[in-house]
Amino acid sequence: MPMKHFSQIIFDMDGVIYRGNTPIPGAAKALEKIRNSGYKISFITNNATRSRKQLQKHMKKMGIKTSIEEIMTSAYAAAFYIKSLNPKPQKVYVLGEKGLMDELKDAGFCALQLPAPIDKGNAVLVSGLDRKVTYAKLAAALKALDNGARWVACNLDPTLPIEHGFLPGSGSIAASLAYAKGKISKNADLHDALFSNIKLQEPDFVAGKPNDYMIKLICKGKKIKRKEILFVGDRLDMDIAFANHAKMSSLLVLSGVTGKDEAKKARGIKKPKAMLDSIAELPDWLGI
Ligand SMILES: [Mg+2]
Repeated sequence: MPMKHFSQIIFDMDGVIYRGNTPIPGAAKALEKIRNSGYKISFITNNATRSRKQLQKHMKKMGIKTSIEEIMTSAYAAAFYIKSLNPKPQKVYVLGEKGLMDELKDAGFCALQLPAPIDKGNAVLVSGLDRKVTYAKLAAALKALDNGARWVACNLDPTLPIEHGFLPGSGSIAASLAYAKGKISKNADLHDALFSNIKLQEPDFVAGKPNDYMIKLICKGKKIKRKEILFVGDRLDMDIAFANHAKMSSLLVLSGVTGKDEAKKARGIKKPKAMLDSIAELPDWLGI
């Protein structure tokens, strides 16, 4: 198999490197071997609740060594994007948790966690997952948008998968703002379902997957063709479809949310180019 042409391997984190607080058996050893063989590696996540520093610590606790530069999150990507805006915003309002706040502070912003007084002027509202979301926070976020703030969403994931099901994701919080800022359709009939009568207001920018901005940041300054990137993930919808759509090589591992039967049935954009039981088998597969 023509595997040597990969110059960059990007790993989704939960379900690939670890599950919650438990490392995938053999992950640390496999990563070391891959790194020592000259592959550039990156870890990527849409989860904006933890900063790259926190994720580095989280992995270290599980015996997995990594550098901050190898970690890419939608919180970091959002901060990077806001930094690139011209003119630079004077205020950055945050509907999110400490990890997102830390990334914004590290990027040099005086970030204000909502609820906070909202001024007029050049501002950005950043939305991520906030597990302590309140009506007051949503009201402040809405006021920021009403005052003309640009809206940057870390991601629009509807759900946050946990061990036994799902929790509402960052997108479900963003959706309440999108609905509040939405436009009632002209043909709205009182007998129609109410949700479908409103055209949602989209954020101005989405930093996380399925937007490939994080991949662009990983490849920034390097001459890498998309085909030379191997993307390793555990979800057919979020990872494999994303990798295929962004023209990377996709590899599914069965150590996360996708079972073998489901994986075999995958078609079209969700069909992985390759499949392994876990990351532990990757060095063999790469022929190293
Ligand atoms: Mg995953």
